Amino acid sequence: MFKIDQIPALQLGISGLDAGLTEEEQAIQEVTHRFAAEVMRPIAEKLDKMSAEEVIAPGSPLYDYLEQVQASGIIDLETMASMDKEQKARIIPLIFEELGWGDAGLAILSVATSFPAFVAHGTGDPELIEIFGSRIGCWLATQPDRGSEVVDLDGRELATGAKQNKGNLSAHIEGNHVVVSGQSSAWVSGAPIAQTALAYIPCDYGEGLYKADGSLNHIAVLIDLEQDGVSKGKPLDKVGQRPLPQGEVFFDDVRVPKKNIVADDAKLAADFFGVLTFANMEMGFTFTGLARAAYEHSLAYVHERKQGGCPIIEHQSVKLRLFDQWQKVEACRAMARRVANFNYLAPDPHLVASITAKTFVTRSCFEVASEAVQLFGGNGLTREYPVEKLMRDARASMIEDGENNILNLKAASYISEWFKENHID
Ligand SMILES: Cc1cc2nc3c(=O)[nH]c(=O)nc-3n(C[C@H](O)[C@H](O)[C@H](O)COP(=O)(O)OP(=O)(O)OC[C@H]3O[C@@H](n4cnc5c(N)ncnc54)[C@H](O)[C@@H]3O)c2cc1C
Repeated sequence: MFKIDQIPALQLGISGLDAGLTEEEQAIQEVTHRFAAEVMRPIAEKLDKMSAEEVIAPGSPLYDYLEQVQASGIIDLETMASMDKEQKARIIPLIFEELGWGDAGLAILSVATSFPAFVAHGTGDPELIEIFGSRIGCWLATQPDRGSEVVDLDGRELATGAKQNKGNLSAHIEGNHVVVSGQSSAWVSGAPIAQTALAYIPCDYGEGLYKADGSLNHIAVLIDLEQDGVSKGKPLDKVGQRPLPQGEVFFDDVRVPKKNIVADDAKLAADFFGVLTFANMEMGFTFTGLARAAYEHSLAYVHERKQGGCPIIEHQSVKLRLFDQWQKVEACRAMARRVANFNYLAPDPHLVASITAKTFVTRSCFEVASEAVQLFGGNGLTREYPVEKLMRDARASMIEDGENNILNLKAASYISEWFKENHID
């Protein structure tokens, strides 16, 4: 038991029930928090109210953000990659929670636009690093007719006997080139401003798009989007995460050197799930931050707003609703960090771990943000107050990076497979 002489005053850190952060970790958290408060929030508030076209137009505050985030060095994937595993498990969740608290759409923009550069550096090839190592990129995987089917790349959730959909974008090999034709979905984050793409595409290696078992052959390839044959659609007008521009990319027989291949079909599923495992894990940190932002706005508002003869926090039911928000934020953080611990410290990271956090956190985050709107009453629905934006941003997160139900189905299939292999003779 705890021996306490006097009931102590409650001491909470930036991120709630945190204790035992090192000085270095606290410094990183504080610097990121300041950046989120002073740079991200004001820029995101402006971008949220602009049209999708205005968000990407020259002079948009979006470019101030990109410049400032680059100059800050906060989201430097190379620096993150150079940390040891324990540091990654502890520091990366701290950084992305603060960024999500600042603005989830901008936080995700920074990650998605770095994927091609990160992969190029990983190849160690000076030519690929020169072309892809520092330009704005995107992660191009979904197509108009291939959404959840891309997330379910290994076909676990296909109806019995069904084939994966051929889709609207494919590649084939011609001599020393991969030739790409068709279009991506309108959901590719960062696409309207991207100069490069890390693309996952069905591919005909010479014997057709389909294998004998009905599944598709795929290829992962780095593509320069500023070459002939590439064009972009109009930026997407959507509910939530409006600072994160999205749009279609069209390819008209675009020739990509074979040396840009990141993974051929044999390595494709592992490579894709490596990216998705990181991305889903990162969603857990980011949307813990958004949930915290919604809770903090609620906490302040219920102390200001007077109804029923007192600040509404004095009403018992409001206290309970606020505590429910607090508890969900703490549960999100605990879950997200536990998954980081697993992914960095277990023998291998796994998509099941990341899905565990992604779908729980995004669902809880939406509940917290929606309750924030409810606690603000009519004010919660107006654009003068910040909580309706948080609710819209949280809503998108349950479809982004894999729709939550299909992700949960996949995770359950892996767990069942593990059980069958380990417990059934
Ligand atoms: C904010 C945001 C950012 C995104 N960023 C990117 C990006 O950077 N790059 C990119 O390539 N894509 C991106 N996407 C696309 C995203 O990955 C897809 O929207 C998502 O995978 C769902 O696909 P879909 O929209 O086609 O829905 P569908 O796949 O059509 O799903 C519709 C419904 O059918 C259900 N369903 C589908 N298949 C099954 C099944 N086998 N069993 C049971 N139910 C099923 C789903 O659960 C869902 O409820 C983004 C999306 C959003 C919202």
